[in-house]
Amino acid sequence: MIIVMKLRASSEEVALVEANVRALGYEPHTIRGEIRTVVAAVGDETTHQSLEALEAMSFVDRVVPIQKRYKLVSREIQDGTAIVRIGDLEIGNGTLHVIAGPCSVESLDQTLSVARAVKQSGATILRGGAFKPRTSPYDFQGLGEEALEILQQAKAETGMPVISEVLRVSDIEMMTPMVDVFQIGARNGLNYALLEAVAAAGKPVFLKRGMMATIEEWLLAAEYIAKNGNPNIILCERGIRTFETATRNTLDISAVAIAKRESSLPVFVDPSHAAGRRDLLPDLAAAAISAGADGLMIEVHNDPESAYSDQQQQLTTEMFEELMVSILPFIQASGLKPAW
Ligand code: PEP
Ligand code: MN
Repeated sequence: MIIVMKLRASSEEVALVEANVRALGYEPHTIRGEIRTVVAAVGDETTHQSLEALEAMSFVDRVVPIQKRYKLVSREIQDGTAIVRIGDLEIGNGTLHVIAGPCSVESLDQTLSVARAVKQSGATILRGGAFKPRTSPYDFQGLGEEALEILQQAKAETGMPVISEVLRVSDIEMMTPMVDVFQIGARNGLNYALLEAVAAAGKPVFLKRGMMATIEEWLLAAEYIAKNGNPNIILCERGIRTFETATRNTLDISAVAIAKRESSLPVFVDPSHAAGRRDLLPDLAAAAISAGADGLMIEVHNDPESAYSDQQQQLTTEMFEELMVSILPFIQASGLKPAW
């Protein structure tokens, strides 16, 4: 249920509603808008008492039931896109951000050269895998903590905040001071214990859609993070498994448009892991922006042929530079501004 306060309700009135929500056995999550505040009551509506009685309070405008299973991340309780702050950056504020960097951090030289190049082309956030979820246990598993230190050096030099994937709950504490954003990868998109633990770390979370997750399951995964007290979530569509073999995964463009309609969270698209081949990236990036994406994540390597992972899909720094120019008209047509 959502309790919509009357216009300009005072903070005492909001506090009174929150207390009543608690007394009825629900957890209140308050969203303060510029002119109107709403209190989302989270709990199992089938076993708790009815919140409709709160409509009798003079400062409550209405009590609205939500049919959707996700609430905190739903557009029903927050109109417009929620802004996620990463350092000085604002994600979801009408500017299109591009996260770029290598699939895996392989060395200081490699990471620095890619970081400098992608920054020069307009990327605002640096990606780099430290812990790699590889299909084969014999493939490169990432440099771990050493990679995070390398990312910190690249951040110090370029000023770009860094994002890296977390695979295990036991790594969260060590990683928290080393990353600006935690990435949850497609293989862990439905790992609820990891989602809850990463939420508690308090840093923004970049939540990739599980490769076999429905859109509802993806949004409910985000709800796990929000319900655990962390509203700073960015959704990322990265392709789903289908029968198609021409691409590594199938980029689900509908999911971008639907996530934008259903949820207030910023939505990014990772065309690199969707396509699995670098030649399609400019087209898929343009399609993502046209469908309403707030940003992109692109893999870039200084020498993709010799990369330790995802050789087929990483762009050269020159190709990335071209892609960044090629998407400009699509950004403008979507009513956004490039963040660079
Ligand atoms: C990645 O971004 O490094 C990655 C492993 O992607 P995904 O989880 O989408 O496969
Ligand atoms: Mn990769």
